[in-house]
Amino acid sequence: MEKLGLVRDIDLALHLPLRYEDETRLTRLRDARDGDTVQVEGVVTDNRIEQRSRRQMLVRLDDGSGEVLLRFLNFYGSQQKSWAPGVRLRVRGELRHGFFGREMVHPTVRIVQADTPLADALTPVYPTSAGLPQAYLRKAVAAGLRRAPLDELLPEALWPEIGLPRRWPSLRDALQALHHPPPSVSLPELEDHQTHPAWQRLKFEELLAQQLSQLQARAERAHLQAPPLRSRRDGLADKLLGVLPFQLTGAQQRVVEEIAQDLAQGRPMHRLLQGDVGSGKTVVAALSAAVAMDAGWQCALMAPTEILAEQHFRKLVGWLEPLGVKVAWLTGSLKAKAKREQIAAVASGEAQLVVGTHAVIQDQVEFARLGLALIDEQHRFGVAQRLQLRRKLESSELEPHLLMMSATPIPRTLAMTFLADLEVSTIDELPPGRTPIVTKVFADSRREEVIARIRDEVARGRQVYWVCPLIDETQDSDAAADQAAGRDSARRKPLDLSNVTQTHADLGEALPGVGVGLLHGKLPAAEKADVMARFASGELAVLVATTVIEVGVDVPNASLMVIEHAERFGLSQLHQLRGRVGRGAVASVCVLLYAPPLSDSGKQRLKAMVETTDGFEIARRDLAIRGPGEFMGARQSGAALLRFASLEDDQPLIEQARRAAEFLLHAHPHIAQRHVARWLGNKSEYLKA
Ligand code: ADP
Ligand code: MG
Repeated sequence: MEKLGLVRDIDLALHLPLRYEDETRLTRLRDARDGDTVQVEGVVTDNRIEQRSRRQMLVRLDDGSGEVLLRFLNFYGSQQKSWAPGVRLRVRGELRHGFFGREMVHPTVRIVQADTPLADALTPVYPTSAGLPQAYLRKAVAAGLRRAPLDELLPEALWPEIGLPRRWPSLRDALQALHHPPPSVSLPELEDHQTHPAWQRLKFEELLAQQLSQLQARAERAHLQAPPLRSRRDGLADKLLGVLPFQLTGAQQRVVEEIAQDLAQGRPMHRLLQGDVGSGKTVVAALSAAVAMDAGWQCALMAPTEILAEQHFRKLVGWLEPLGVKVAWLTGSLKAKAKREQIAAVASGEAQLVVGTHAVIQDQVEFARLGLALIDEQHRFGVAQRLQLRRKLESSELEPHLLMMSATPIPRTLAMTFLADLEVSTIDELPPGRTPIVTKVFADSRREEVIARIRDEVARGRQVYWVCPLIDETQDSDAAADQAAGRDSARRKPLDLSNVTQTHADLGEALPGVGVGLLHGKLPAAEKADVMARFASGELAVLVATTVIEVGVDVPNASLMVIEHAERFGLSQLHQLRGRVGRGAVASVCVLLYAPPLSDSGKQRLKAMVETTDGFEIARRDLAIRGPGEFMGARQSGAALLRFASLEDDQPLIEQARRAAEFLLHAHPHIAQRHVARWLGNKSEYLKA
């Protein structure tokens, strides 16, 4: 029971049936057809043990309208004695046409009297695990349901105000109806988990708890203090703008302004900056950091992989050191001595900006005055790391401001349910002069043509990525997220390193005189950095890599992306990878190589890639192909957040729950409190991560 999470009474009460069996009525054998699963009642006319192909007990039952043979391959001697001729049995099973006429193999059997009443409700069949018999579980659930504290928290007087229809049952009645539906119930309506009032009520309760906890987190944040960071005219941010080799797009200007307004407040910013790959989020982060540093506070920029962190470090050093900013560098792979020095520079406040992986939030790291934390590609961080970050931020007297960045746009339902506690800024415009990427899909057998294309591209001075899947690549990213995201690659035979090293060797051979680099997570950090730097400088024309380059890598001269075994990647991951090209003015191409045969969802993903380059559209399709549970990946692996409601189907309920939550928090905070406690217990921590 513990394995199934059935510990408290309320857990049992919320353990809902998979399906139901109808033991509320008897079928006359004459009216039943072969193949029907029915309950019949009759008197035993014969009971014998026979040795046919194997030993078996044959019980003949007569219900007055017809006869059926009950056949048992496993049985006890005591059963033969008690199911003797003349005894009345109520049996339930599937009717089949056997060699000796009608039979049921291993029906469920109960000895009854002529006046034993029928069940007055459908019989629940619960999800269970080996060794936990259904009958035992049924009793436990029924007892749990009786004892669970399900008293109505929403007094009926409030129902009109919070938008609960009068015809909805109380929570207790709803659960009662779901566990023990009356014989009159419409089973299809109950089993599709949608419109039945009991389902609606249950889902509403759950969504209400979720909305309440989000709104509470937001309200708590409003009471926290953060340093007000006001931008100065001709300050560091303006100076940075002056040295940038480009003009901000209108969208970038707008989001910089939104962020600046938040920073100037005395309460902590909690903002998500979303923008498609290549929309220019890094410079927005740098400008925000400049504002904070100008006001005399430190900034931290965290990236999910070392390669990305390193790239940010170089870029920010290039932009900011000439303006007098000292930038520290912190990752897990630093040597002990270097690490101590960097940590000391952060602790003394000498370093105004620290860039790195999640090493930045480890316990030994103490900031002198952290004013702003920037998280790049935040969806790639696991729940545990997000919680660690929160704790780090909360430990200081004044909370720092927080800006998260993501190239995976959040569909509206997700934003409302999971991220209600977050402000969102969107960069909805790409920098000018980009030529849209053309995407092509080829079967793997056309590799030679693709290699010829690489030769042309390199001859024109362009650069090429060749990406191979490798599933045990978990070094910096969150393995659990990949698992939970159900990427196809995780389900198939894993590809090991030989795949990428072999491709590297093949390409080296096919392209004599061309610099071909190899990059994967198993290389030492220094070597990774070196390969990346040589590719960025153009010394290497071709980079064969695993998905370590998936997020954020920025080499604008790269114009061709080849993705091998593209069918093994998730859609948003393909989009991220493709986003490594098309970053300059040159027309770029993305070639998706696949190994036939393609699964249906594989086909859909490749088709989506060909049809659109718009990240929002990709996210929409990804959600449609994978469903929200998998879409949320890491977040869900931390805690099962929505058990009953569905983000896709219950949009109206979500909105309704949102309005109810706002009303309750305002007018009846005690009810709100008790409701959240009942539903979330200690899980509410996760919701804030
Ligand atoms: P992402 O949003 O994917 O993190 P980056 O910040 O890496 O995108 O920016 C992608 C590329 O576009 C970088 O080479 C960056 O220097 C460049 N870039 C950013 N903003 C502009 C702009 N306004 N005009 C031209 N190029 C820009
Ligand atoms: Mg980026």
